[in-house]
Amino acid sequence: MADEIAKAQVAEPTEDTIFGKIARGDIPCKFIYEDEKCVAFNDMSPQAPTHFLVIPRKPIQMLEKADDAEEQLLGHLLLVARRVAKEQGLTNGYRLTINNGKDGGQSVYHLHIHVMGGRQMMWPPG
Ligand code: 5GP
Repeated sequence: MADEIAKAQVAEPTEDTIFGKIARGDIPCKFIYEDEKCVAFNDMSPQAPTHFLVIPRKPIQMLEKADDAEEQLLGHLLLVARRVAKEQGLTNGYRLTINNGKDGGQSVYHLHIHVMGGRQMMWPPG
């Protein structure tokens, strides 16, 4: 079993997460993009030549927990993912992934969009 899946099997939603700390600046992290609503940074365990995460500053645990009032924020995260993908030179395409809950393989309970590119992404995913 892949390490990330093993982590996802035991991960539980918590009030604060490593991404909450990163978003607040409590843990140093080089942002490749930031604005008042979200930040983007490279994944520490990249699964593709380019692999970054876009996270809201607001600590929403997972997509499942986002309510209707989050509609604009969720759209913003997608547009930021597209913008940063372009800035990172992913001109030939890329993949966005949101892992939601245990079966989805979520290991960090702060909503995040994975953006991966720089190689041919395969389908179906594992
Ligand atoms: P998930 O499995 O929850 O969808 O994705 C969590 C991702 O966060 C994983 O790809 C993992 O490599 C990444 N990650 C976990 N902790 C950190 C960290 O402290 N810094 C960075 N940059 N990435 C992290």
